[in-house]
Amino acid sequence: MNPLLEDWKTPFGLPPFSRIADGDFAPAFEAAIAEARDKVNAIAADPAPPTFANTIEALERSDRALGRVAAVFFGLAGADTNDALEALQRDLSPKLAAHRAGTMLNAPLFARVDGLIAGKDGLGLTPEQERVLFLYHRMFVRAGARLEGDGRARLKAILERLASLTTTFGQNVLADERTWKLSLSPADLEGLPPDLVAAMAEAAASRARPGHLLTLSRSIVVPFLQFSPRRDLREAAFKAWVARGENGGATDNRAIVAEILALRGEQARLLGYPDFASFKLEPQMARTPEAVRDLLMAVWTPARAQAEADAARLAEMMRTDGVNGPLEPWDWRYYAAKREAAEHDLDQAVLKPYLGLDTIVAAAFDVAGRLFGLTFHPIEADLYHPDARAWEVRRGDRHMGLFVGDYFARASKRSGAWCTTLRDQRALDGEVRPIAVNVCNFAKAPAGEPNLLTFDDAHTLFHEMGHALHVLLSEVTYDFISGTSVARDFVELPSQLYEHWLETPEVLETHARHAVTGAPMPRELMDRLIAARNFDMGFATVEYLSSALVDLDFHVGAPPADPMAAQAATLARVGMPDAIAMRHATPHFQHVFAGEGYSAGYYSYMWSEVMDADAFAAFRETGDVFDPATAGRLAAEILSAGGSRDEAELYRAFRGRMPGVEALLEQRGLKAA
Ligand SMILES: [Zn+2]
Repeated sequence: MNPLLEDWKTPFGLPPFSRIADGDFAPAFEAAIAEARDKVNAIAADPAPPTFANTIEALERSDRALGRVAAVFFGLAGADTNDALEALQRDLSPKLAAHRAGTMLNAPLFARVDGLIAGKDGLGLTPEQERVLFLYHRMFVRAGARLEGDGRARLKAILERLASLTTTFGQNVLADERTWKLSLSPADLEGLPPDLVAAMAEAAASRARPGHLLTLSRSIVVPFLQFSPRRDLREAAFKAWVARGENGGATDNRAIVAEILALRGEQARLLGYPDFASFKLEPQMARTPEAVRDLLMAVWTPARAQAEADAARLAEMMRTDGVNGPLEPWDWRYYAAKREAAEHDLDQAVLKPYLGLDTIVAAAFDVAGRLFGLTFHPIEADLYHPDARAWEVRRGDRHMGLFVGDYFARASKRSGAWCTTLRDQRALDGEVRPIAVNVCNFAKAPAGEPNLLTFDDAHTLFHEMGHALHVLLSEVTYDFISGTSVARDFVELPSQLYEHWLETPEVLETHARHAVTGAPMPRELMDRLIAARNFDMGFATVEYLSSALVDLDFHVGAPPADPMAAQAATLARVGMPDAIAMRHATPHFQHVFAGEGYSAGYYSYMWSEVMDADAFAAFRETGDVFDPATAGRLAAEILSAGGSRDEAELYRAFRGRMPGVEALLEQRGLKAA
């Protein structure tokens, strides 16, 4: 039998990875999709009148096998892939999309869900069941279940056209990024750090060219702008970098953007919303465009004031350098880096030995113990790669789930860091505890040497552990709302909040010990480390917020016929500083136009940061960052609640009020206006 479809009799029900071959996935998916489709059709054709049990709970059970196969497959596709799995992934995505559309647009099925909503008050539902029913219904409606005939055909055509436009958009940005390059002479390399020089030599070699090549790859152009004293070269590189997608010809994205915005507006109106922002924000915690704008502007005003003050300071440094004229966008990073070196002399070589991988893992576990009473016990497990390690997580005698940490970079892993699950928590048909997986890309030390992290790496480790706790502490009945199944602008709250404990003296003093001498990190180094994280926040906040405001404006009201004019109008209205450019200008704003993901949603990074700062302030206000009562509320109202209640309600239950921006401004070193 296909091992993916068996009942796993392994310890803790882990997938039996060593018995699963790549060739098992395609037939397992085929069988699991067919099973799910049959079950959905049976629910739709049930002659009995709809009840919560025979419709919603039956839907919850309909894709159990598919969920198991998909969890294993997508886990491997991210963390340990190969050509066979990649080919299968391309093959699968239209099949999974077709299965989903078949369910969402199944008219008799939707009629049952719609009927349940209409009569929900007489159903005797628990609050959690009522929420699950509401979310199912909303999912159907947003996918077009209410549309008939022409409307349904038009929606399908719009979505297909959008898929093709957004793919082209991303390819055009990539093409422009690859086209531009500049050969540098040895004299042009003056002032550049050795790793950047090496990266530029590698860029030349990989194109079979001699010497050094300046390219628009972010990992080359950003450090070049920071360190090159050659103002003419900085200007040339900067102008090419911000012109991606705006160079005329076949790779120009401006007409594509206009068409995408028009189609999104039409999609929203077809589904019954005034504009695309209203459609996108409905299931988010923010809920409305006005709420997003209020938040962004509350941070914009002080951030802009800070940036203007910093600009004056940098312009002064430039004049001291003998350069006249205004500070330009290609000057900012260069003078900011000089200022940073002068004000925050942080030597990574001195810092790193204090941040061993195992000590930071132990610190992340220890914080979970002090806050939530969790303990982590290493287990022998049959995992997919020898670098992945597993722990049983307990609270007292109770088994809470499994935690898998897969920390090292390798060729078979995609870049970045993420948290996923091999199994979600649920309690329908008996309790099932979750398996949370953290995947990172930390550099692995040569054999015999300790694995050391940068401070950014340590933040990433805590961040992903925060997501894992959201999974592991989950206590709901339905997996539809389990763990991290919450709104996008809420899902980063547990992870970003958890990062705060890394920066406390309580944690650094105990855990950040020197890999060779065992000495604790000196207090003075700790203070400098934390102070350096706030450097140049006016710039970072302004470049991010200007992009977020343009994204929002694009999707509110009638779509603009000329997006570049609309972008200019937004920037003029908010008073964009001359020496700062948008982090992502429209013709290469991939979050918004290379897919649907962050459209009318780029704000959500800031929304989450406002909440995590405000939430950590709840601990600080007690005078104890491990305050048991506050930790208890965090666990009860947020980490164990999944999506069982509206996100704003969850936050209010934890904090007693909605989040305010004051803690964020303080965290970023910006003063309230
Ligand atoms: Zn995250």
